[in-house]
Order: sequence, then C-alpha cells, then structure tokens
Amino acid sequence: MNNDIRNFCILAHINHGKSTLADRFLELTGTVDKRKMKVQYLDQLELERERGITIKMAPVRMTHTLNTKPYILNLIDTPGHSDFSYEVSRALKAVEGAILLVDATQGVQAQTLANLQSAKEAGLTIVGAVNKIDLLASSDKTRLEQIVKELANLIDDKSENIYKVSAKTGEGTEELLSAMIGKIPAPSQDNDLIQGAMLIFDSFYDDHKGVVASVRVFGPAESSFKIGDEIYLSATQSQTKIKEVGYFSPELKEAPVLKTGEIGYLAIGIKDPQKVKIGDTITKLGVKIKLLEGYKEPKPVVFVSFYPEESDDHELLKRALQKLRLNDSSLVVEPDQSEVLGRGFKVGFLGRLHFEITAERLKGEFGIKVVSSFPSVVYKIKIKKNFQTIIRPDELPENYEEIWEPMINLEIIIPNNYLSRIFPLQKKFRLEDIQTTTFGDRIRVSAQMPLAELISDFDDQLKSVTEGFASFSYTLGEYRRADLVKVDLLVAGNIVPGLSRLLSRQDYQREARRLIKSLKKVLPRQQFTQSIQAGAEGRIIAREDVRALRKDVTGHLYGGDRSRKMKLWKKQKKGKKKLKEKAVVRLSSEVFKELLKK
Ligand code: GDP
Ligand code: MG
Repeated sequence: MNNDIRNFCILAHINHGKSTLADRFLELTGTVDKRKMKVQYLDQLELERERGITIKMAPVRMTHTLNTKPYILNLIDTPGHSDFSYEVSRALKAVEGAILLVDATQGVQAQTLANLQSAKEAGLTIVGAVNKIDLLASSDKTRLEQIVKELANLIDDKSENIYKVSAKTGEGTEELLSAMIGKIPAPSQDNDLIQGAMLIFDSFYDDHKGVVASVRVFGPAESSFKIGDEIYLSATQSQTKIKEVGYFSPELKEAPVLKTGEIGYLAIGIKDPQKVKIGDTITKLGVKIKLLEGYKEPKPVVFVSFYPEESDDHELLKRALQKLRLNDSSLVVEPDQSEVLGRGFKVGFLGRLHFEITAERLKGEFGIKVVSSFPSVVYKIKIKKNFQTIIRPDELPENYEEIWEPMINLEIIIPNNYLSRIFPLQKKFRLEDIQTTTFGDRIRVSAQMPLAELISDFDDQLKSVTEGFASFSYTLGEYRRADLVKVDLLVAGNIVPGLSRLLSRQDYQREARRLIKSLKKVLPRQQFTQSIQAGAEGRIIAREDVRALRKDVTGHLYGGDRSRKMKLWKKQKKGKKKLKEKAVVRLSSEVFKELLKK
C-alpha cells in the first residue's frame, strides 16, 4: 500500500522563504550530502541562483522517519511570482497538500492570497506556517501572534495549529516536516481507473536521456510502471517503450518502478519534445481509461520579437529558444521577419518578468545577444464590424473603428497609511473599478488595469511609492474598449521598427516627449547629426537632436592648404551621408527596458 507516501508543495509570496525551508528539509532528511549543500539548493538554474528567485518548480523525494517508521515525502518547491502561476498550478495537481508559508516580518501578502486560492481550488490540505521568526525580537511576541492569527483566519484553522519556524536557523522545521505526515492525507487510490496512469506535470531535456517527463502516478493500489513497459501517450496518440524511470533526489536517480501515489520521472529516449505534452495522461498500451484532468494551456499575453544582433546567429537563436521551450512549455515561439532587423522570432510570454528572465537566459546560458522589440499585448481591432487581432502597434490598420485591450484583475495589499500614495498611480497606469476592503491592519485594493500598463513600469513604481510595503498579484481579465493613439518614433526621418506604441489619449503627448528624451539618452552618437521625432495621427509631436561625433579629418595637415582640406571635408560629408543611409537603429533589450519606464 502507499500510505507511507506524502506529497506536498510549499506555497508563499515571493521571498517568504520557500526554497530556504526546502533546504532545511533536504538536510533533515539527509537527502543532500552536507558537503554538497548550498543555499536554495533547489534553485538550480544559473539565473535562479544569480537573481535569488525561483522560476521553475522543483520536485524532490525525501525519506523521513517518524516513530521508527520511514515515510517517503515528495516535496515540490514552487515560484511565487504571478507570471509563474502556471508552474504552481501544475505542481498542485501532483500533490495532496501544501505548506502555506508567511514571512513573519511581512505578514500575508498578495501572492499568499493568490496561491492559497489556487491550492483551495485544487482541493489540497493546507498547513500554515510563519517563517523567519529569528528576525522578530523577543519583544515582538505580539506581532508574531498577530501574524499567526491572520494566517489562521485565512486558512480557517486555529492559531495553535500554525507552525512557527525559521528556515534560516532550522528552528521548528523538524516539527513542521513531521507534522506533514499526520496532516496530509496519503495519496488515495483511484479505483475508477482500471489501471495505473501517469499525469505529466512537467518536462525537460536531459543531455543523456533526451526528453524527460515529470510524472505523478494515479490509479488502483499496486499499479506500477517500469523499464520496458509499452506505453501510450494520448495527446499525441503515440506509443513508445519506457527507457528509464526514477526519482528526483533532486538529481535524476534511476529506480526499478514508479508506483501509485509516487512522483518521479520517465525517460522514453525520444529527442522530439513535441511528443511529450504537459497535462497529458500516459497509460500502458492497450489500456482504455478516462483521461486524467490535465491543465488549461497557458495563453501567452505579452509578445516580444527577438532578432539576433549578429545575423549569423539566427540558427543559434532558434536552437536556444527550442531548448528553453523544453523546460518552459509556456513559451510560444514563431518565426518573424523585420525589414531592418532581419530574421528573428516572435515569442509569447506569460508576463513581463517571464520576458526579462528569458532574455537574460538567452544571454547568460547561450551567449546570444538579441535585439528585441517593445513588449506588446494582443489588441483586438474592430474594423467594419469585425474584430481582428494585432500584436504590433505598427500593424494597426488605418481605417480601424475601435481598439480593445486586455485587462488584468489586480490585487494590492498595502498598509493603511500608504493608501493615499497609490492614488497618483491610478491615473498614470489607468486603474479602474478600484475597491478597497480592510484586511487586518492593512488594506486590500482590487482594481482593473490594462495589461499593457503592467508591462510598463507598474511594479517598480508601486514598490517605490510604498517603500516596498505594498505587494500585488494579478490574474488575467477581460478585454475592454480603450482610447489609444499610435505613436511612432522616427530616427533621421525613418520610423524605427518595433518602437511604435499605443498610448492612452490622456497623456500620449507627454509620454511621447519622454520617450524621445530617453531614446536620446541611449542612442549611440554617430558621425552625423540624428533627429529623433515622435509622430502620431499624421503629425510630428516632439523632436530632439543627437549631435554628431566630430572627427578631425584634417588635423594631420600642416599649414593652410585650403583645397586639400576642402577635399577631405567633402569626402567626410559624403561618407557620412552613406553611413546615414545605412544606419539602422539597433537597440538591446536593456534599452527597451529603460524606454518602457514611465
Ligand atoms: P522564496 O522566494 O520563497 O523561495 O524565498 P527564499 O528561500 O529564496 O528566501 C528569500 C530570502 O529570505 C533569502 O535571502 C533567505 O536567506 C531569506 N530567508 C528565508 N528564510 C529565512 C528565515 O527563516 N530567517 C531569515 N532571517 N531569513 C530567511
Ligand atoms: Mg524560491
């Protein structure tokens, strides 16, 4: 039987200490060798370590002995940021319970609520824990009790059932881990399934094993999958043989079988990642069962085109994106072509952080420098009573009737005394339908905001006006009609592809002036004077000039041979004209990030 297994994940707002708590569990259970231990061990991507954030969920199998009985604990560490809620939702379907962790110095924050909501919808048993108690002075006992109560209320539990831990010092972590065995139900058998089935909740590429699927086994007790089994993948209607099964330790560790209730991996020796679809059900060949409930495919909502800085790197970029897609199934990649920037790829993301992370991974992990377009959302354009969609503002047809844009449902949690500080953001970021409710000693603000505003500089500005005391999360909302104006940026009289933007009519002129000012700051100076202009609705609405770099071409001539100088100057002028004709404005993704700020 499988009542010695417990599967759970750790959920929390970003930075509340999920990955650090996982470290303590790995140590307590001796899963990772002491000498190999490092902080946030499960954050194995280079970028995760650099930035100190979790991007990918990370499963690990541990053995923990309680009252002389060994239990198998499968833990999945998850990312906290809203952009990665798809990762979380997948982890939730592979487990029975969750630790909802709250930072004692922060209290419940917006992503705590969002994650709790998803865990409830998935029907998980939730265990509350307050972390970082080492940071509260002993005089702060009332503060701690306040947060314990807040969390208890939130999950409908008693205060005495909330664990108080320090993931840093380890205090209270063993009690918490042991408690999971009593509190979280063992995986139940599913006798509706005549035979075992595996849910693919993640996939990635391993250099030696090919495509690897992370799976959870469901079904009647004693169902199992092992090497050599003939299996059927229903989404792709393909059949194949199991090459290897095993566990996450957290490195891949081969095992003889995967049984009901277990979490592990499956290698089928294929190189084509398209064959393995996340959310799919795997059965033994010839077994007909009702499919396991999969996942709603995530819809990319932010689009950016990447062009290699060196056009020779096109193939390299293509392969890099394919590789990234393997452990990030939410990336959508399509070929793209720009007159000036050449061949590239249009990539769909789940949010701005997702875009930034991917651009950084291209540079950091693959050494590819890319030029990118402005991140854009998908607009719906009404034209002759029909709707069509556009992604790039330069695709906006002349004779459009209405522009509709995607909204998000925004949730902000903020201390009472900071509420007035967010009002200026209301106009700037076009917040609508604002509602406030008290939330303990703080305020919960819900509002509608255009997704396009979220991908400009909303998070940084919210942080700065509230000195970091506000937190937010979002879910995607409906489309709304918007009054937007298309603004083009021109350098030396030519529209720069990828720089056009759809801006709110309220402040497009001010915004256009600001844009060309920031473009001026980042535009490399050339041998010739460049004008930077902003145009909208057939008019030029703003202009700046970037002065030419001066190069003294006649300095080496002594005396006053005027005609020779004239000749050289003439030659220089001609050269500049040629340069100017050839000049292409190429901006790196850092520059775009700079330009996106309000
Ligand atoms: P995650 O985003 O929820 O995975 O959070 P991390 O585990 O990456 O931790 C975020 C930061 O909080 C790191 O700098 C940790 O060292 C720190 N941290 C985590 N737990 C504790 C704790 O119990 N006490 C203290 N003082 N710091 C902690
Ligand atoms: Mg983490």
